[in-house]
Amino acid sequence: GDVVLEIRNLTVEYQTGGDPIRAVDDVSLQLRRGEVLGIAGESGSGKSTLAYAITRLHQPPARITGGQLLYTHPDGSRTDLLTLSGKALTAFRWEEMSIVLQSAMNALNPLLRIGVQIDDALQAHRPAMGAGARSARVRELLELVGIDPQRSAAYPHELSGGMRQRVMIAIALTLDPDVIVMDEPTTALDVVTQRQILQRIVSLKDRLHFAVIFITHDLSMLIELSDRIAVMYAGRVVEEAPAKHFYARPLHPYSQGLLASFPTLSGAKRVLTGIAGAPPDLGALPSGCSFRPRCPRAFDRCPVVEPPLLLLAPTGGSEDVAGRRQVACLLYDGADAGRSGTGSTGI
Ligand code: ATP
Ligand code: MG
Repeated sequence: GDVVLEIRNLTVEYQTGGDPIRAVDDVSLQLRRGEVLGIAGESGSGKSTLAYAITRLHQPPARITGGQLLYTHPDGSRTDLLTLSGKALTAFRWEEMSIVLQSAMNALNPLLRIGVQIDDALQAHRPAMGAGARSARVRELLELVGIDPQRSAAYPHELSGGMRQRVMIAIALTLDPDVIVMDEPTTALDVVTQRQILQRIVSLKDRLHFAVIFITHDLSMLIELSDRIAVMYAGRVVEEAPAKHFYARPLHPYSQGLLASFPTLSGAKRVLTGIAGAPPDLGALPSGCSFRPRCPRAFDRCPVVEPPLLLLAPTGGSEDVAGRRQVACLLYDGADAGRSGTGSTGI
């Protein structure tokens, strides 16, 4: 499919007085229409910082210090989201891209019926829509997320956490966005509810063709529901691959460690080894590869060379970008790997 959002060399820093902390460091990712891009990585690797920056919802001391966020409109024209401000930015956030956060369900107004809250969003952004059409749309949205439309008169406190989170997803879908960013959208819920809601999002995505950037700590859920996986370590993307290739054969030693820390998808038992050591202090990164001090496969060049993100030839010989994978590790810095980066993607 074609690319709806291209994150190009994005860098986000927290400026808190001393040296700035680079929480997102030169990240380049492409999101295609209708796909789920899952982002994995330990706590503190920069996933939420990335999610907020993409939606331009980041707050000081976070600051975007470099890069572009190229959004492709349905007509093929492109906008760098970093150039938007004021009304254009607000409109963009509703019409084109929306975000669902972990604690979103607590953002509902406790004093207003849920149907009214969805209707408010429609009134604000679709002023030409009549009351009848709006009320039909509210019912449709509730049905989409699996809530009986009869319940539109309910107040938030009358609904379970899972139901409230579904309402937030309905609100995110109100104006038919092309991109939905979900940062731990179901983490506050029990496992069964999480799975139901996430599966519902995937089936909605297939019907409505929006793309999803999906962040969760649950790696097995991430692999199951994503088309592609990007792994972050210390603010950088260290591996990117189709989910099934990633699961079958993770390339980066960090990815291998992450996968070894989780039970297999089939539920088969395996020894959970995890990854020794802790993520680095972003204010004092080791030289060369940031993962090197924890890496079981580190060798003499690792402290010396910062590994570039290498584009590996797709194993199927296909030109399709969906089949390609990238890895930032000197173990793969061989003859068949090419340098990746802005030069290879082009507008
Ligand atoms: P988690 O899995 O725990 O949600 P994450 O991958 O979402 O983690 P971020 O919240 O993006 O990680 O944080 C990345 C890094 O940015 C942190 O390790 C921290 O160093 C820095 N950071 C985050 N928020 C702030 C802040 N408000 N002020 C200063 N530094 C921050
Ligand atoms: Mg986070």
